[in-house]
Formats: sequence, structure tokens, C-alpha cells
Amino acid sequence: MMGHRRVEQAALFYEFSLEKHVPGDHLLRSIDRFVELGELRRELASFYSTMGRPSIDPELMIRMLIVGYCFGIRSERRLCEEVHLNLAYRWFCRVGLDGQVPDHSTFSKNRHGRFRESDLLRRVFETVLMRCIREGLVGGEGFAVDASLIKADANRQKGIEGDKGLPPDASGRGVEEYLAVLDDAAFGAATGVTPKFVSPADPTARWTGAHGGQAFFAYSTNYLIDVEHAIIVDVEATTAIRQAEVLAAKRMIERSMDRFGLYPARLMGDSAYGSAEMLGWLVYEHGIEPHVTVFDKSARKDGTFSRDDFSYDHEHDVYHCPGGTALATTGTLVNDGTTMLYRALQHECAECALKSRCCPSTPARKVPRSIHEGARDMARQIAKSWEGGTSRRLRKKIEMLFAHLKRILKLDRLRLRGPTGAHDEFLLAATAQNLRKLAKLIPLPNLKPA
Ligand code: SF4
Repeated sequence: MMGHRRVEQAALFYEFSLEKHVPGDHLLRSIDRFVELGELRRELASFYSTMGRPSIDPELMIRMLIVGYCFGIRSERRLCEEVHLNLAYRWFCRVGLDGQVPDHSTFSKNRHGRFRESDLLRRVFETVLMRCIREGLVGGEGFAVDASLIKADANRQKGIEGDKGLPPDASGRGVEEYLAVLDDAAFGAATGVTPKFVSPADPTARWTGAHGGQAFFAYSTNYLIDVEHAIIVDVEATTAIRQAEVLAAKRMIERSMDRFGLYPARLMGDSAYGSAEMLGWLVYEHGIEPHVTVFDKSARKDGTFSRDDFSYDHEHDVYHCPGGTALATTGTLVNDGTTMLYRALQHECAECALKSRCCPSTPARKVPRSIHEGARDMARQIAKSWEGGTSRRLRKKIEMLFAHLKRILKLDRLRLRGPTGAHDEFLLAATAQNLRKLAKLIPLPNLKPA
């Protein structure tokens, strides 16, 4: 039989320690060791407002965002509720039991207002990366690069035909940001091709059918990782097309060199990064070994000889054809100065028994050679080697990070609009992934690794 529970008056007054109520093996306890906002506090000072709407302590906002992205809490309203109710979240955010958690409307206004005025989230990401470097988790030996499509917060049903363009009365933050990045090679200037549809809510998001199923509006998140422990060394948001992703790879490699002195010995990537120009940039400009699948469209499908059937003689700078004739070049560059043509002599081709399999519709065969062909040859040789096979396996670590991003951190669709929204979300998610990795690789002293 149930009766009334007797509550002693004295029990209503007690001391409560948040510290004691957060389990020793809670993920946030482990992560907390690596969140170092001390140096950022000076920079954060300018974000404290003494006028107008009450501002949230920027450190509280960053800690709340870390909680949200580490635990896949995507809604700002839910994040505020969770921090209010969850003791571990309160402890991590340094909000006492009777401390006030901002309501979601104030949180949202502060996040999109004052925080957008600086690149504070990149500084937070870099602070965590610095810690990874200090802990010896980034060797700088082998890096991998890849990009993944993330759906934009744009209704595919409401897209308007790209040829018609945005209506003249289109306005809003999404449109303003779209106009601001029109000349940026990572967004508007990445291609001259008009997309099939444009979203009036977020015109920078790119209509793409790259996944093979139903097309949608998307951005690309680009990762540069150190393959040893799969630490994210850099992250960049771009429009969802290959040219922009290649540009992002270059930006990330150069930024990691400038900011942290990280010079990778080799770069791993798929054929999206295997153009002659990109391989030349890696090898000749930065001395990085290209463990990258070569992007090669020279194979012919009509049964005639492909370029691979011609062997290049480095010593004499000629190609040898299957018929044994040498194809030489005059050194004249075509294709905007990127390609040299090697030609067979007309009378030799005319007398050749293989002509019908080589150049049935032209008087003589010519073979194009990129000015970066040396870098392409190097990448081909690496691909055939044992190291190339190892690199292809290591490259999968970046795909696992993207899978983790979408399935565990639930970032399969953006909640913020515009390139700035994508930039903020991708930076925070990468920061959360690095923090979780730090917590996993460096367990608390009194805990044994799982
Ligand atoms: S057609 Fe000309 S280039 Fe082709 S195999 Fe014969 S000689 Fe060589």
C-alpha cells in the first residue's frame, strides 16, 4: 500500500555540488580538459555589450555550442532546454544550479549578431587543433583531403529555374550573402554554368544531383586531415562543385602551412584532386608527394590507340607510337598554355599498317602532353606501388569522419543559411569531432581506455 512520503523540513535546505553529480566517465569531463578559452577571453571582451538587448557571455555561448555539436543537438531551442535540465551540460557550461540559461531567442540573436562580426569560431577550432598538435596527435607526415555534400536548409520544391534568376524583389540575409560571394572562387565564381534551380531562400546553395538520386540544394564541407589519428587539420565550406573543392584543398594546405607550419610529405585524395594542374601544384610548388588518383580521360572507346599506348621517352622528349615511330613537339603550347602537342610525320602515318587503329580520320596522329605530366606520371607510379595501396586504405579515414559527422553528430542537413551559416556549422562540427577524438585518445588519468 502506498502512503504519503514524509519530507523533513530540514531536507529542503541542502548543499548541492554539480561537480559531484557529473559522472567521472562522462564525455564532457574528458572534453573539458581540452577546451582552452583562456587566450580567447581577451578577444571575447569586445563581444560583451553594455547597451541594448542583454548579451550572452560569449564563453557560455561557445560552451553551449560545443555541447550542441558534440551531442548532435541541432535545434537551438532544444539546446537551451537541454542545458537548462542536464546537470552535466550545466557543469560544462559553468552555469550553476541556479544560474540562468539563455532562452533560445536571445541565444539565436546573439549567435547570428555579435558572433558573426569576427571569425571567433575559427579561433576556437584552431585552439583545439593546437592542443592536438601539442599532444603529438598531428605528425604532418600524411594528409588526406576530401569533400562531402551537406543538404542546405532550402526547400527543393521551392527552387526557381536557374535561367530565370532570382526575382528582382528577392531580399534577406541569404540574398545579401549570395551577392557578397559572387566573385569568390569557392562560391559564385567557381563555375560559369547556370544551375538548373536556384533557392530564393539560400541562393548560394548549389542544386546538385551528384549523389545519383533526387537532386537537392547543398554545400560542400571540405576536410584536410592528418591520417595518423584522423585529426581534422582544416575545414572549409564551399559550393557543391568540384572546382570549388579543389580550390578549398589548396587553401587548406596553404593555411595549415602558414598558421601551424604543417608541411605534409604526402597528400591522399581521390580523382577529384587528380587534375594535371592540381598535381603540378602539389609537386612543383610545394614538393608534396601526390598519393592521388590521376584524373585521366585520355582512354578511347572507339578501339583506336589511347595515349597510354604511346610511351614517353624522357631523355629525348618524344613519344614512341605502337608502330615504332617517334612523335616530336615544336614546344608550342595550346589550351591556354597548359598542353604541348607531339606529332607523327604525315608520310610515316600514311604508310603505316596500323593507321586504321591509330588515326583513321586524320592524316597523322598527335598526342597531347600536359606541362604537368611529370607530376601525373609520379602520381601514377605511386598508385601502382605498395605505398599507394596503403594510402588508399588510409584515405578511408576521412570518409569515416564524414559518416560520423552525418550519423552521430546529425549534420546531414544545415540549419543555418548562406555561406556564413555553412562556414559556422562546419567549423563547429569539426571542432566537436577533434574534441571527441582528443577525449578518446587521451583518457582521463583514472580511467582505463575502452
Ligand atoms: S599511324 Fe602513325 S602514329 Fe599511328 S602507329 Fe602508325 S606511324 Fe605510329
